[in-house]
Amino acid sequence: MPMQRVPVELPGAKALAPADPGSLFAMAVAAVNSACDIVKAPEYVKAILSQPKNELIVNFPVRRDDGRYEIFKGYRIQHNNILGPYKGGVRYHPEVSLDDVKALALWMTMKCALMRLPFGGAKGGVKVNTRDLSPDELMRMTRRFTSALGNHIGPDWDIPAPDVGTNAQIMDWMMDTYINTHTDGVHHGMMQVVTGKSVRCGGSEGREKATGQGLCYVLAELLPEFKLRMEDLRFGLLGFGNVGSFTAQTLAARGAKLVAVMDHAAALVHSDGLPVGALCEHARARGSIAGFKSAGVREVSPEAFYRTPMDVFIPAAMERMIDTPQAQWLDCRVLAEGGNGPTTPAGSKILQDRGIAILPAILCNAGGVSVSYLEWVQNKAGVHWDLERVDRELQRTIVMAARRVRLAAHQHDTDLSTAAFGVAVEHLSDTYMRRGIFP
Ligand code: GLU
Repeated sequence: MPMQRVPVELPGAKALAPADPGSLFAMAVAAVNSACDIVKAPEYVKAILSQPKNELIVNFPVRRDDGRYEIFKGYRIQHNNILGPYKGGVRYHPEVSLDDVKALALWMTMKCALMRLPFGGAKGGVKVNTRDLSPDELMRMTRRFTSALGNHIGPDWDIPAPDVGTNAQIMDWMMDTYINTHTDGVHHGMMQVVTGKSVRCGGSEGREKATGQGLCYVLAELLPEFKLRMEDLRFGLLGFGNVGSFTAQTLAARGAKLVAVMDHAAALVHSDGLPVGALCEHARARGSIAGFKSAGVREVSPEAFYRTPMDVFIPAAMERMIDTPQAQWLDCRVLAEGGNGPTTPAGSKILQDRGIAILPAILCNAGGVSVSYLEWVQNKAGVHWDLERVDRELQRTIVMAARRVRLAAHQHDTDLSTAAFGVAVEHLSDTYMRRGIFP
């Protein structure tokens, strides 16, 4: 007798979603679910997107300089690969947790889909305070983490990149470790196993500044929607790491004024605009903006920082930093998310009620992964493009995405944030419907 096949519906997204309201992953899934509803994605797509495909946790020993061995915990979450190889950064931070990495991986899927990159979404991390490690220990930890990931990363399978707490040096070590453990030393076809490498080791021109540069292109495209002009824009930054400092430089180069900036150690304001070049030099040398002195620059409290009047506020630090009080204090027209997931659901609601528009991270900070894609393409082809070409490609990619978002917001009569998720989900959903579910 032929086997009877009973069609079983996949459990609904609701059944799979985490229940903890404080969970970053729950917050990310909720945004994707409402986008699915708006673009009328089938229930099975919603269910698939509400969980990562693979969740890997590794515990691995590292020899400290004093001879002791310490165990570190690392993660790699592969959320989705319907559009191409898994792609996303690796974070080194003491607060790294499974739930957060899952959320960040889901956002990578959305980011790549919105940008129309042939990549899926992933994220990884190690729970570590890099300030506690010597450069040698950092290298050994990176190499041991990479070898622990084994075949779970690969140039056509899952491609890591920098994120909070990691940089080009760490990517160079990851690439070198992968090549040494996966080949007999033959480079060809392997160096694109990670992106965000130094230019000498196969990295792309323009990758280091890419996230800030991309945000600048997005603002240039969307500011007219809010009757704002780049030349007399007043902006503020929360965070002055890679994203914050390059955003400051690219916006200031177009005439915008940085009127307020806060990092982990200090908050500074200047109503005529802070001198961005000098501030970047100071932060690079000292590891913080604290102690920066210049005519007209004042140090203020966090609350006074948030209350500074400005046109665009750019959180470019960690997740969940714009909660109820901060959303109430902000005195701006637009909040452009430079970092991932900076606004809590309660914070977003207040901003919305106060008429402050949110430009979502999956659009605003997609410059990083967009240039990662260009690095991957250059490595595959064995070529090296000049900065002009990289910037031009980045601009085209991210401006087209910004236009898609603006159009979807008008079509669905919704805000830009929901529209951005809608555009991403529509692309993923259409791909699923064309390909079907195996077998
Ligand atoms: N970590 C960055 C992000 O969150 C870049 C990822 C990449 O280049 O793959 O978008």
